[in-house]
Amino acid sequence: MMWLVGRQMMESLRAQVAAMRRVMSSTAGLIGSDYATKEQAWEMLEGLFSPFAHALTATAIALIAWYNWYADGSLASVPAAVMVLGTFSLRVVFARRYHRRGPDARVSDWIRLSAKSSFIAALGWGSSLSILIFTTEGPARFAVFALISAPIQGVTARAYAMPAVVIVHISIVLGMVGMAATIFGIAVAIPLVLLYLWYQIGFVFELVALRTKMLKADHDRVALLGQVTRYNSDLAVVNARLSTFALTDGLTGVSNRRDFDQKLKLCLQDQTTCAAPLALLLIDVDHFKRFNDTYGHLVGDECLKLVAAAIRTAGRVNDFTARYGGEEFALILPATTHADALVIAERVRQAVETMDRAALPQPGERLTVSIGVGIVAAGASIQPHELVEAADSALYLAKQCGRNCVKDGVAARQPLQQIA
Ligand code: GH3
Ligand code: MG
Ligand code: MG
Repeated sequence: MMWLVGRQMMESLRAQVAAMRRVMSSTAGLIGSDYATKEQAWEMLEGLFSPFAHALTATAIALIAWYNWYADGSLASVPAAVMVLGTFSLRVVFARRYHRRGPDARVSDWIRLSAKSSFIAALGWGSSLSILIFTTEGPARFAVFALISAPIQGVTARAYAMPAVVIVHISIVLGMVGMAATIFGIAVAIPLVLLYLWYQIGFVFELVALRTKMLKADHDRVALLGQVTRYNSDLAVVNARLSTFALTDGLTGVSNRRDFDQKLKLCLQDQTTCAAPLALLLIDVDHFKRFNDTYGHLVGDECLKLVAAAIRTAGRVNDFTARYGGEEFALILPATTHADALVIAERVRQAVETMDRAALPQPGERLTVSIGVGIVAAGASIQPHELVEAADSALYLAKQCGRNCVKDGVAARQPLQQIA
């Protein structure tokens, strides 16, 4: 039975030594430095530089020194109080420097300073507690031994940040106190100190494991969030491209019929409150079937591209060009008077008639268009199909009149103002 317990203790000790080696070699700096962000690192250092625990320990040691003097008139413990107060003051200086660090301060510099100040504190605490062991009498000695564990616990609790430094720190303090107690005559001090150290190191590993898990989870969360944000913005780009495709005519690159229908509906909704008329041109290529039959559909396709480009160029910036279907195009002219609409229609007709056909596989014969103009008066309320019908009738008239010409038809019968 004893043999079994002994073997388990040895195994546990071996595991702890191995874990300690890992911690010592992998965490020269802050724990989880692979995952921690800069903000997290500064936050951890904030805790490490806090002089609060030092203030409590210094007060307790000073109280024991005072009690010694008060109870026995002995000033022997005063050096212990002086030493721990010195350590505390140094710690306050470091904390002030930390809070006044410049914007270009480096985490690694402050990690080193934190480690150095921890070693100084360990020597200060170890010395003052050792002095207390030698200089206290009577009941105050119990207080000293109770007090020894307080700074050790305080430091161990911060092991989540810099475990290697913490292990060295508590080893120094417990080593000094253990030696002082042994010299003083408490022979059991060394094994007790070793057991306490063992217990504390186990505690350190638990804290480190928890902290590492937490930092890794935080790191993964931020990485995932970044990924989702990237996917979302990619999706937005693809969606925008898709909606452009859905509203664009594949051959000519101008808007397609779906886009035209939506746009005309919106324009006519606005038209009810608009102070200017609106015009729609329906543009049909003349004898295009004959053209296709003569030069082939591929040349015909190239021609339709040129016609679309010519219409777009002849229109103004806010005019809306669309392929209505087959060899028919539409041009919506917002806020345009009847006279201006006829001028633009004539410009479109001439632009197609004179367009440069050098890019065609065969120059072919000159193409012309017939144009029907539909007009909606300012403030009028009509349905899209009524305007299209008006422009289509005008287009029919243009065909009847021999093609390659512009004809108009007024679609607005009653402006809203007059209805009211
Ligand atoms: P009109 O002057 O009366 O308009 O005579 P048209 O020949 O232009 O009219 P019709 O409606 O008889 O023929 C239209 C032609 O347009 C027939 C069709 O092959 C051609 N067309 C329609 N869409 C395309 C296209 O995408 N590419 C080509 N190459 N031709 C097309
Ligand atoms: Mg046609
Ligand atoms: Mg035609």
